[in-house]
Amino acid sequence: MPRVLVVNTGSSSIKYQLFEMDGRQALASGLVERIGEAGARLTHRTGDAEPLVVEERVGDHSEGFERVFRAFETAGGPIGELAGIGHRVVHGGDRLTEPTRIDDAAIAAIADQAPLAPLHNPSNLLGIRIAMASFPDTPQVAVFDTAFHQTMPPRAWRYAVPADLAAQLRIRRYGFHGTSHAYVSRKAAEHLGRPAGELNLVTLHLGNGASVAAVAGGRCIDTSMGLTPLEGLVMGTRSGDLDPAVVFYLHREAGLSVDDIDDLLNKRSGMLGLAGANDMREVERRAAEGDQAAAEALDVYCYRIRKYVGAYAAALGRLDALVFTAGIGENSDGVRAGVCQGLEGLGVALNPKRNRSRSGRPRTISPDDSKVAVLVVPTNEELEIAEQTLAVITG
Ligand code: ADP
Repeated sequence: MPRVLVVNTGSSSIKYQLFEMDGRQALASGLVERIGEAGARLTHRTGDAEPLVVEERVGDHSEGFERVFRAFETAGGPIGELAGIGHRVVHGGDRLTEPTRIDDAAIAAIADQAPLAPLHNPSNLLGIRIAMASFPDTPQVAVFDTAFHQTMPPRAWRYAVPADLAAQLRIRRYGFHGTSHAYVSRKAAEHLGRPAGELNLVTLHLGNGASVAAVAGGRCIDTSMGLTPLEGLVMGTRSGDLDPAVVFYLHREAGLSVDDIDDLLNKRSGMLGLAGANDMREVERRAAEGDQAAAEALDVYCYRIRKYVGAYAAALGRLDALVFTAGIGENSDGVRAGVCQGLEGLGVALNPKRNRSRSGRPRTISPDDSKVAVLVVPTNEELEIAEQTLAVITG
């Protein structure tokens, strides 16, 4: 019974999940948060049991991993024999296009992408190094958030900036959430009972971060995030698309530095900037209570998505299904209705009762005769990383 541990190491957190791969079953999962800060906490879940919660200082990531391994011992379900460890790595650039067995060359290549993802890749690497030291004989695999999008044609990934500069600095569209877009594309095809190779999909990953992908025959042909996750849809705290000249204007007129503007557009914009709250449940609650700013923010949020669906329907030529996933996509029937409203011309229709139904499983929320099937497909990035890890290890 092969087991795979999936690890996502952030700058102040470690998320993990242990899978038994014969039954694709999650045995345990957990999170260490606020590493190196006040209020650090480990939450470890085993099956349906009450979670184990430990609140004590976690000085650094090494201590964080020790806590995780200890939690497995004390919470009754030991890690056991591991077939492999799969690490989520945010940026693979244009060279790391497949899940990769980790060795010295892979580590150097991941480090080489760090300027493109300065907040993420160094933490991801730290997790890899600690896990390799703790499990020196266990194969370890890096799975990249950018990889699924590497099939985009140049017309989709090129920015219209001087070609020599773009080549020198690797300025291009990479796209993120690839693991999720890949997973829900495959699940959508399974749900529709059709081969992925003959389906054209638009997949909408709407979580705190949000992105959309155009997927033709199982391959990504365009996606909304770019060089970094800032481009595209309106997100919890990110602006998404705007005129790049806003940046110069903020600098010249408001005297903001590059770092200030980076912070403003990544952490204080999006729904937080528009409505004063980044949690979609809160924005929807306020809008329902008559808060005008919240209602307008929702309108901007849904309109931006609708524009992308239209653009990607044009890019695909034919649209078979629209797939909603992640926290907002899976749970907010209001956002789904707001997105689909006005897309009738593309053949998109919703069945209101199906849209309001709740379930943790893939489901169709369009009428049976809708030209474009509208689906909700819960994402599972950890399972996808575990599957890809096992596939690399077993060749
Ligand atoms: P992350 O990108 O951090 O993985 P998630 O995919 O968990 O994020 O999505 C988080 C978002 O999902 C939050 O904005 C949250 O408000 C939203 N969300 C979760 N449940 C609901 C719900 N029932 N209705 C509306 N939004 C929801």
